[in-house]
Amino acid sequence: MRPFEYANPRSEAEAVELLNAHDGHTAVLAGGTDLFNLLQRDIVTPQRVVDIKNIESLRGVTPVSDGVLVGALTTLDDILSEPMLQDYASLVQVADAVHAIQVRSNGTLGGDLCLLPNCWYFRNGYGLLGQEDGHSLVAEGRNDNHAIFGNRGPAKFVSASRFAPALIAWGAKVRIVGPEPNQVSMLPLEYFFVTPKTSEQNVTVLQPGQIVTHSWLPTAAHHITRARSDVLQLEGLDWPLAAASVCVESSAGIVKDARIVLGQVAPTPWSSFDAVATLVGKEITEATAQAAGDAAVAKATPLSDNEYKVQLARTAVKRALLRAAGQLPT
Ligand SMILES: Cc1cc2nc3c(=O)[nH]c(=O)nc-3n(C[C@H](O)[C@H](O)[C@H](O)COP(=O)(O)OP(=O)(O)OC[C@H]3O[C@@H](n4cnc5c(N)ncnc54)[C@H](O)[C@@H]3O)c2cc1C
Repeated sequence: MRPFEYANPRSEAEAVELLNAHDGHTAVLAGGTDLFNLLQRDIVTPQRVVDIKNIESLRGVTPVSDGVLVGALTTLDDILSEPMLQDYASLVQVADAVHAIQVRSNGTLGGDLCLLPNCWYFRNGYGLLGQEDGHSLVAEGRNDNHAIFGNRGPAKFVSASRFAPALIAWGAKVRIVGPEPNQVSMLPLEYFFVTPKTSEQNVTVLQPGQIVTHSWLPTAAHHITRARSDVLQLEGLDWPLAAASVCVESSAGIVKDARIVLGQVAPTPWSSFDAVATLVGKEITEATAQAAGDAAVAKATPLSDNEYKVQLARTAVKRALLRAAGQLPT
């Protein structure tokens, strides 16, 4: 591990100022469940690490007139136990699906949204795009866990965030502060993630000197149902191979509108508008959920070794829809 300065701010503005130093060669530390791993292996090499854990304003869940604000330091265990979040069942289910005790007690919602990819080339020092001498190692190497959508450019990893698909299906926004100390913006979460074109870019819109402070979730309306489904390997860590989160607005059993968001299949969470189009005006049945799953994957572009993920993504969409319609147990 390379040496770095450690900073321990008490306010959002102080954190932003500390992050702006060293030409932005700085890193945010939250629960540290992933960042420490990256620091130890010199995969990220900041000159200063800014620990945000003592910023009180980033903790807890606050009711607001149109929903709730969930602090970036909210841990997975907090999500499971916080009474105000129990109406957000699909979010609670994501936290519940993570079984690693350390990740549950220390891993934070903000850290999950900003997680760097799990791509083994990235994690072994070949950069964000997994390249050597300008050539993609992913395209011709091990790519069985990689993207089946949005993979025509140099980025072929999958977005690592577990919560983002469920939050996007909820219509969540993120509150961002920086790079000026009092600069605040609220951004719909679907616009937060980016597909980098060079290894110097980030996987989110965050610039040096910016942090995520909160996620905003709208008030849970009872005519809208939400559900999610993960398809996992039977052994190993509980990262899904494909996941889907849905939000369905119905009237008298007929779908009026929906959001269908896939995870672990593209460099960003992947919204399927084609799948929504097949559902609107129909009831959710085995057949319509299957048709939506088919539509969701119709434009997939699998790599040499990950064709199998197309079927997993199809199944995740179908199951999430059947769950939202109460036709499968949650
Ligand atoms: C061995 C191992 C096993 C894991 N297993 C699982 C698993 O089974 N399931 C699962 O879902 N996840 C798993 N994770 C992933 C991860 O640790 C968690 O998802 C966790 O939520 C990350 O939160 P954190 O607070 O610890 O993030 P940190 O490690 O502190 O940070 C993660 C990244 O986000 C950035 N960051 C953190 N907070 C902010 C913020 N507020 N604003 C801007 N940037 C920020 C950091 O700079 C860093 O790049 C695993 C990680 C490791 C290393």
